[in-house]
Amino acid sequence: MKAVVLTADSPEPLVADVPEPGHLGKGEILVRVEAAGVCYRDLLNLRGVWPKARRPVVMGHEFAGVVVRVGDDVEDVSMGDRVAGLPYSTCGSCKYCLVGRENLCRNRRQLGEELDGSWAEYMVVNARDVVKVPKTIDAAEASITGCVLAMIIHALKDQAGVRAGETVLVTGAGGGVGLHAVMISKLLGCSVIASTSSSSKAERVKAAGADHVVVGIDQLSSRVREATGGMGVDVVLECVGAPTFEQSLRSTAWGGRIVVIGNVSVGEVKVPLGYMILRENVLVGAVGSTRRNMEEALSLLESGRLKPAITRIPVEKAPEALRILEKRESVGRLVLVF
Ligand SMILES: [Zn+2]
Ligand SMILES: [Zn+2]
Repeated sequence: MKAVVLTADSPEPLVADVPEPGHLGKGEILVRVEAAGVCYRDLLNLRGVWPKARRPVVMGHEFAGVVVRVGDDVEDVSMGDRVAGLPYSTCGSCKYCLVGRENLCRNRRQLGEELDGSWAEYMVVNARDVVKVPKTIDAAEASITGCVLAMIIHALKDQAGVRAGETVLVTGAGGGVGLHAVMISKLLGCSVIASTSSSSKAERVKAAGADHVVVGIDQLSSRVREATGGMGVDVVLECVGAPTFEQSLRSTAWGGRIVVIGNVSVGEVKVPLGYMILRENVLVGAVGSTRRNMEEALSLLESGRLKPAITRIPVEKAPEALRILEKRESVGRLVLVF
């Protein structure tokens, strides 16, 4: 089968012919992949950032496809089901899995890094790590559920506790996550201020529903104060990380929350503790999503209220897709199609 493989001695992934997965273990299913998202995390994998990542490995952790074979002890998934998956394998039995916080599974293994991933015609996953996709939802849209749409829902609702009527600042709003964060924040009934480094992306961000767009980082907090009558925002969805963090913190209202989901430079930040104490700011991280978050995202897609911004690229062009992502030339999410 065709697969995009990262090897130990190549600086970029190779599109190669590899054997199809054979034996299915207990609880496993074989999925014929129809679409697979391209994520900033894949770029970090390419750069060797993840200590547990193995080589060679089939890249990719975002996917949607059709179940073509099921292993023993698979109950809720059948051949022919359309599914989309979490970006990792979970154990189903640790203290986090047992309470529906499988994004924190202590035995979690990332697809495309610790396990072979989704940039291949076929992949093996645990049946418990997928959700069924309604017929009306396009595979490319479904493929970005786990790592983009559901992850945003997890960050905003579970971690930041966002409520309708609040104001949300989204940093990195032109990116694959940021643009969808603008859309989902609006669907949750929030006012949205969007920050992007690129004036060429401002129109697209506005079209995604942002009430205000701020281009560039330097003046971000003062522009946010202007737009909010001096109050600042209730929630910041920090999609960028270290480069925007200080401005994000200074954009927050008294009692405001910052939820960090991106860290593009893998850098550290200074946190002014006194400022946070006096203003009762809350700083919280968010990672991945749960099946419950995925089901909520899929129902937004099914209702037609959420229309993802996707650029489809043939899987053979995966190395080029990564270069486009690295240069930040894309708006919305790049999705490999098969
Ligand atoms: Zn991802
Ligand atoms: Zn677990």
